[in-house]
Amino acid sequence: MLQSHNLDVLTAAKSWRVNGGRSYSSLAVDRTEIRSNKDISSIFAVDVFSLDTMREHLSKSVWKSLAATIERGETLNPQIADIVALAMKEWATERGATHYTHWFQPLTGSTAEKHESFVAPNADGGAIAEFSGKDLIQSEPDASSFPSGGLRSTFEARGYTAWDPTSPAFLMRHENGATLCIPTAFASWTGDALDHKTPLLRSVEALNKEAKRALSLLGSVAPNSVIATVGAEQEYFLIDEEFFFRRPDLMMCGRTLFGAKPPRGQELEDHYFGSIPERVLSYMTDVEERLHRLGVPVKTRHNEVAPGQFEIAPIFEHCNAAADHQQILMQTLQNTARKYGLVCLLHEKPFAGVNGSGKHVNWSISTDSGVNLLEPGDTPHSNMQFLFFCAAVIKAVDKHQDLLRASIASAANDHRLGANEAPPAIISIFLDEQLVDIYERLMRGADGESPGGGLLGLGSPVLPHLPRHAGDRNRTSPFAFTGNKFEFRAVGSSQSISFPVTVLNIIATDAIKEMTDMIEARLVGGQAIEIALRETLKEVYAKHKRIIFNGDGYSDEWREEAERRGLLNTRTALEALELLPSDKNIELFQKFGTLSHRELEARYEIYVEQYFKTVNIEGETTEWIAQTMLLPEVAAYLGELAATLGNLAAVKIAASALGRIAGEIASSVERLGIALEKLRIANAELGGETAHEKANHVRNSVIPAMAETRIAADALERLTADKHWPLPAYREMMFVK
Ligand code: ADP
Ligand code: MG
Repeated sequence: MLQSHNLDVLTAAKSWRVNGGRSYSSLAVDRTEIRSNKDISSIFAVDVFSLDTMREHLSKSVWKSLAATIERGETLNPQIADIVALAMKEWATERGATHYTHWFQPLTGSTAEKHESFVAPNADGGAIAEFSGKDLIQSEPDASSFPSGGLRSTFEARGYTAWDPTSPAFLMRHENGATLCIPTAFASWTGDALDHKTPLLRSVEALNKEAKRALSLLGSVAPNSVIATVGAEQEYFLIDEEFFFRRPDLMMCGRTLFGAKPPRGQELEDHYFGSIPERVLSYMTDVEERLHRLGVPVKTRHNEVAPGQFEIAPIFEHCNAAADHQQILMQTLQNTARKYGLVCLLHEKPFAGVNGSGKHVNWSISTDSGVNLLEPGDTPHSNMQFLFFCAAVIKAVDKHQDLLRASIASAANDHRLGANEAPPAIISIFLDEQLVDIYERLMRGADGESPGGGLLGLGSPVLPHLPRHAGDRNRTSPFAFTGNKFEFRAVGSSQSISFPVTVLNIIATDAIKEMTDMIEARLVGGQAIEIALRETLKEVYAKHKRIIFNGDGYSDEWREEAERRGLLNTRTALEALELLPSDKNIELFQKFGTLSHRELEARYEIYVEQYFKTVNIEGETTEWIAQTMLLPEVAAYLGELAATLGNLAAVKIAASALGRIAGEIASSVERLGIALEKLRIANAELGGETAHEKANHVRNSVIPAMAETRIAADALERLTADKHWPLPAYREMMFVK
C-alpha cells in the first residue's frame, strides 16, 4: 500500500515540477479518487507501538509492570526494560525499520534525532542485531551543539536522553525504510532539564496533585489522576516550491523580507473556508494519512483568512501526547509538501500586510476517566466544581499575565501580536456573558447567606447550558473560554507548544492550590463547605475580574482601558522575556518542582539568544539581497531607461513621463542606499558581549534599519520593470493553485 502510494505521489510531484508548478490538475484529480476510499480505522496508529500493541507483544506480568509506569507514573522496573526493548525491536524491524533514535525536544523548539542502526558489527566480522533495555532507556548524544543556556559547560558536553514510557514509540517512514523513534526527555549530566518535555511532565504531576486535593475538598469522587488536555490548531501557508527557491529570504528566514503589497490581498475575503484547490487537497489528504498512521488524531482542515493560508486541527489528547504530536504534525506538514512541489511555511508572518499564522492551543483539565472539569454540568455539584476551576483559571491568567506573555515571546511572533489581525500583546480573557453574569450575581450575594434551595444562592439549581463556540464570536481575544475549554490564541505557529502548556498547567496549579488553601482555612474557621466555596469564589473573582474583557481586542480603546486596569502590555518579545526570571516566577516554578532557578535562568538566556540570532540572520539576509540582487537589477533598468531617454532626446522626441519615472527610481535608489548603509553598520556591530546586549542591539538598530531598507525596496518593486525584479512578487506567490 505504502509503496504504490509513494510512487503515485512521486509521479505527480515530478510532473508538477516539469510543468513549472503550473499545470497539475488532471493528476490531482486521479489522486483524489485513489484516496477517497481509504478507511481511517484501518490505518490509524498502525505505525505506533501503542498500549494495545505492547499488550499483544508482552507477557501479562511485564505488561502490568509497564502499565503501572505509564498509567500511574510509577518508576520503571529496569528488569523489564530488556523485554520491552526486544518486543519493540521486533515490532519495528518487521515493519521495515533499520534504525532507531531517541527522539527529543531540545530548547531550539524543534525535535532532534541521532539515528543508530539496529545492526552492530561483531568481533568476527559479522553483524548482529542489537537493541537492549539499556539502549531503550538511556542514550548519550553529544549534546554540545544544543542550547543549554550555560547549564552545561563545554568541557562537560554530555547530555542524556531518557525514555518517556508515557509517550508511545513510533515509526517515521521515508522512501527507503523507516526509523523507530523513541520519545525521550533530554537532560545534562547534572540532571538539569535541557528540553521541553521534562518540565511539561513535571507540570502535569503538579497539576494532578493540586487538582485532586481540590476535588476531594469539594467532595467529588476521587479520580485516579487529573491531566491537562490539549488540542492545538495549526495555521500554515503553502507556496509553490519554484518561488521558494528564488527567495533567499524565505530559504534563510522562513519569511519574506521584501515584497510590495499585492493588488489583491485578503480584502475579498473569498479565501476563508472557501473551496480548497485540488493540489492542496491532495497534499492535505496525504498529510492526514501519514499523521493517522502515526496516531495523530487530526480531524479538521480548511482554508484560512489569507490567500495561501490553511489550517489543520487534531482532536484533543493528554497534553504530553498532544505536544509530541504537534511536533510530528509540523514536521509532516513540511516534509509532505515537497512531494507536491509545495513548501509549507510555518513562520508567524511569512508575508507582510496579510494575516499571520498562529497556533490556537485549546486547553482544559480532565480526570483520567474523561470528566472535563471545565465543562458546566447538569448537577449543582458539578457546577460548583466548574465554577471553582474556571475561577482558578481566571485567577491564574491575571496573576501570571507576564508568564503567559513570555511563553509566546519570539522575534517571529512580534510581527503578529499586536498587529491588526492578530491577538494583542495584552493578555486578557474572553468569558461568556452568561458566565460573567453568574460570577457577578455571586459577588452581589450577601455575606454569610445560606445557599438556600439553589446552587450557591444563585436561584437556580443548574447553570444555564453555555453555548459552545461562544468564544468564536470574539476572535480578537488572546485567551478565550469556548464553552468547555480555554483557547490560547496568541501562541506562534512555528513554536513548540510545550512551554506555553507547561505555563498553563503550572499557573492553574498555583491558583487551584491557593483557592484550596483559602477554602480549607474557612472550613477550619467553622464555615460549611458551600459557604466557604462561595466566599472564596467571590474573593477570587473580585480580585481578578479585571483580566476579563469581551470587547474588541484589536482596538486602541482597549489598549487605553487595559492600561487603566493595570494590565501588562509588553509589546515586544525582549520586554516580555525580561519578565521570565522574576522572583515571583522563580518561586512559582520551584514551588511545584517544574523548573529549578538554574533551569529557568537557562531558558531565559536561550530565548534571548534565539531572538538575537533570528534578527541577526534577517539583518544579514536583508543586506545581502538588497545589495547583490535588488540594487544591481534596478541599476541595470535605470541604465536602460537613461539610454532610452538619451536616444529619444537625440531624435527630439519628448519623453517627460519616462524622465519622471527615471527620476523617481533614482531617488528611491538613493533612499535605499542610505538605509542600506545604516543596516550595514548595524549588522557589522554586535552591541556587546552578552546575549542580552546583542539582542538589544539588534532590536534597537538592526530592526529599524531593516524596516527602512524594506520601505525603499518595496517602492522600487512597484517602479521597476517586472523582468528586472529578481524576486517573485507577492501576487505570484500567494495564490497557490
Ligand atoms: P470543532 O467542533 O469545530 O471541531 P471545537 O471547538 O470542539 O471544534 O475544538 C477545537 C479544538 O479544541 C480541537 O482541536 C479540539 O480537539 C479541541 N478541544 C475540544 N475540547 C477540548 C478539551 N476539553 N481540552 C482540550 N482541547 C479541546
Ligand atoms: Mg480555534
